[in-house]
Amino acid sequence: MKIAYDRVAATPRTVVPAALPSGESVTSFLTQVHEEFAADDDGELSTVAPALGRADPAHFGLAVLGVDGQLHEHGDSRVTFTIQSVVKPFTYALLAEELGVDLLRERVGVNATGLPFHSAQAVEVGIAGPTNPLVNAGAIATVSHIPGEGVEERWRWVRDGLSRFAGRDLGLDEETLDSEREVSHRNLALAHLMRSFGTVEGDPDDAVEIYTRTCALEVTAADLAVMGAVLADGGHHPVTGERVVSEEVARVTLALMLVAGMYESSGEWLIDVGMPAKSGIGGGIVTVSPGRCALGTYSPLLDGTGNSVRGALSAAMLSRSLGLDLLASEPYA
Ligand code: GLN
Repeated sequence: MKIAYDRVAATPRTVVPAALPSGESVTSFLTQVHEEFAADDDGELSTVAPALGRADPAHFGLAVLGVDGQLHEHGDSRVTFTIQSVVKPFTYALLAEELGVDLLRERVGVNATGLPFHSAQAVEVGIAGPTNPLVNAGAIATVSHIPGEGVEERWRWVRDGLSRFAGRDLGLDEETLDSEREVSHRNLALAHLMRSFGTVEGDPDDAVEIYTRTCALEVTAADLAVMGAVLADGGHHPVTGERVVSEEVARVTLALMLVAGMYESSGEWLIDVGMPAKSGIGGGIVTVSPGRCALGTYSPLLDGTGNSVRGALSAAMLSRSLGLDLLASEPYA
């Protein structure tokens, strides 16, 4: 039996406005966080694709964009890197806006797999209740629903949408794209397996090509802060003023980031940081404080799960110091 949540769908959602941290406190905490972790060199560069292994391990950038449109930055916040899996919530949001949250919920799934991001086992086991849009399988399935004819037209559709999140035209890192194409056997296998279950629409190779391109888009920590701030601001862009996605799509996207944004360590992340986030093996993390701001971090040294070590430590420290943890409370009066 399924719980009939549509019985409450007509009830208007009450949203209590959140208080923004002051610009001065954000600037001073970004400086402190950078000083605290810049000398740490724990973690490894990604070995998933050879081009990722050529990143500079010293790079460390931080940026926060408030929903008031104020950008605060420190360190290598304008160094470019490939977005990788950080793209997944934004791709999902564009498709959910186009097709509706319900269709993707049913076709792709919304629950944690508890397994690594490129797991094939999760797809096999999950025949009954598929995957989720923030791991490779679910992201490839999501991309397979992009409207249009042929790879180029569908690629333009998603790239334009992702650029609307960033508020600027996002370019491709062709070297990383080629490097990833050469090692995409597992993603192709996932796509073909899902095609056999009907989870992937159309040509699985086309879906992987478009998915791989989305991962190779070039961004900075400042871009990630901007993109995340659209989700923090109910789908409205705090800088361009555009409505990128609906309030409901922004909210559901954040829910998915809580569930699976940090892969199989999402539970630990909730305890340590207490905010929706998404990481990528390029070294980026976007962390969102709904109604307040978003944090973009870049440092390419990763832990065993594929999360940036300095980025995670920075998000944890900022969550505490700026009072952003969604789960923290203290006794009334
Ligand atoms: N492009 C990478 C892949 O498909 C993205 C993985 C990631 O950032 N976790 O494996």
